[in-house]
Amino acid sequence: MDYKEYVIVQYLKSDYKSESDYYNSKIKLKAKLIEDLESNEMWRVLGASKILVGLDNLNFTNKELESIKNKVADLPKSEIPMMRDYRVDVGQAVSLLEYFSSGAKCKCNFYGSLFPPEREIEIGYLILNKPIFVNNSRYETEYELTCRICKTKWKVVQSDGYHFPTYGWEKI
Ligand SMILES: [Zn+2]
Repeated sequence: MDYKEYVIVQYLKSDYKSESDYYNSKIKLKAKLIEDLESNEMWRVLGASKILVGLDNLNFTNKELESIKNKVADLPKSEIPMMRDYRVDVGQAVSLLEYFSSGAKCKCNFYGSLFPPEREIEIGYLILNKPIFVNNSRYETEYELTCRICKTKWKVVQSDGYHFPTYGWEKI
């Protein structure tokens, strides 16, 4: 199941037959993301934030963006001991919305250590230049990629030696 299908089936609870179902669902998808981001309920806000950072541009209006920013501005810290503060994810999602709203056409100035490259391939921003290399002795996976939009070339090293994978993104 690729990321577009995952989002439509698991998050929107809709049918997915082909890629066009993703593009046709964008308005519905945006509406649900806004509802969750503005819900003030930690798991819904976190879930929507995590979904959103992996997506392409859903064309949020300035008004929608301002409303979301106001609603998430004073979220309380979680009482549950978690690996990290969920508000980091929320902040990242808001940054991506601001980034697209400032006119960005791809996500090349946004990638960082929390970004799995495979999702970006599935969503159509990046293409693989050569097969993925799994370095078993170092618990690493290496990707060489090109952005379809701005043509930036990337080398991404996924490290699996921690509790959760981290990603080193380097322009080549
Ligand atoms: Zn790019």
